[in-house]
Amino acid sequence: MKVKRVYSIAIDGPAGAGKSTIAKRVASELGFVYVDTGAIYRTVGYHMDLMGIGPKDRDGIERLLDDVNLELCYGEDGLQHMILNGHDVTDEIRTPAMSRIASTISAQPCVREFLLDMQRDLARKNNVIMDGRDIGTVVLPCADVKIFLTASPEVRATRRLKDLERKGEKTTHKAVLADIIQRDHQDSTRAIAPLKQAEDAILLDTSELNLEQAIQAVIALVRQRIVL
Ligand code: C5P
Repeated sequence: MKVKRVYSIAIDGPAGAGKSTIAKRVASELGFVYVDTGAIYRTVGYHMDLMGIGPKDRDGIERLLDDVNLELCYGEDGLQHMILNGHDVTDEIRTPAMSRIASTISAQPCVREFLLDMQRDLARKNNVIMDGRDIGTVVLPCADVKIFLTASPEVRATRRLKDLERKGEKTTHKAVLADIIQRDHQDSTRAIAPLKQAEDAILLDTSELNLEQAIQAVIALVRQRIVL
């Protein structure tokens, strides 16, 4: 059992495993700050897209990175809002096109380096539950609790489809599944900070769990490891 001043919980896993929904709830139950790092990559991708720079254009991205001023703001709802150069882009970054751009741009070493300090700084100052792909392996290798959250691609596609339908996006299970498989492949085969389970992370497969069961499973794992 650990007793410390500031705690960090790392949640990694593939797209659609439920990381953000679960981490958000766990954060509010434990009084931690929730940091959605995928949203940060999405925001960088959004900026480059807005400026007409493609996610594979390394030189263009490197040139424009210094113009990216990112802030994370927490509304009264506890939601993480992404502020890009003074504008709230929280909704704009949530489209399937932005998912693909974020996945491609996040393989650029200059982008990962640019965002590393920002993420570590948040964890130095707050009790955080941070979700992403490389939190337990690269960003916070000394996190107090590391969980690798996963579910079968079919289950993840079904969950993602429901989210998109709720937002009025028209798509199909087949298209969402294809996107998820493509993104998993891209995220786990990239040279730098690929998606993978840290050696000391606990594997939690939520394929057979409903949301409430998954949240309670994560809280139990955290409480076994740290004193709050
Ligand atoms: O989690 P989310 O689906 O919003 O992430 C969007 C993309 O950002 C992922 O597909 C992944 O390529 C990238 N990402 C990353 N490292 C993180 C978080 C997200 O490379 N820590």
